[in-house]
This record gives sequence, C-alpha cells and structure tokens, in this order.
Amino acid sequence: MADGIRIRPQPARLRAEGVGSAAGRLFIVRDLSRPLEPGDRCVTCGVPHEAKTYHLRMDADGTTIVSTGVWERFLAMPDHGGFETVNVVADPPAQGLVVPPAVVAIRPAHP
Ligand SMILES: [Zn+2]
Repeated sequence: MADGIRIRPQPARLRAEGVGSAAGRLFIVRDLSRPLEPGDRCVTCGVPHEAKTYHLRMDADGTTIVSTGVWERFLAMPDHGGFETVNVVADPPAQGLVVPPAVVAIRPAHP
C-alpha cells in the first residue's frame, strides 16, 4: 500500500477558523483550480461546491492522513490549503478523507 501523509492545519488556519485546537474538527479545503459543474451536489456533505472540495476530519491529535496524491494537490494550492505535513505514514491504517457521520449544511439565512 502506498504511503500516506499525516497533515495538520497550519497555525494560521487555526487562527482563521477561530479555534485553538484542531482535534476532532472538520476542515474544508477547496481546490479552486478544479471547478465543478454548477449545481452538482457534494457526495460527502450534500451541498453544491464551486470547486473540488476536501472534507478533512482531524483525529484526537489534530491530524489526519491523506494520500500522497491528495497532498500533491494541496502543495499546488495557495498556502498548501492551510495544511502542513507532520510525517510520512508507511502503510496507513485508513484513508484520511472520511465521510463524517453527520455534517450540518450551513446555508445563508433568507433575507
Ligand atoms: Zn461537501
């Protein structure tokens, strides 16, 4: 099995999210270089995204594991999608891109 890359949010991303710790939190990373067809609903969270979107659930240590292919995509994004590497994980136990059991879709309030 291919190596995985353990990543965590950069301190600036945590500040931008207004949280002190990433543990257990869901982070969204949008790859604006990969636009999606308008109206397509995300298979993970059910709402339309304007671009390829990664949903990253952090573990209790505030990290997650992604494939080397996904990390290469992040490296091509501004600020690496707001993430940084922790280490390389040989034979990772599971894909880091998980479907959370419940995601609350936040929609703008109607005026
Ligand atoms: Zn989504």
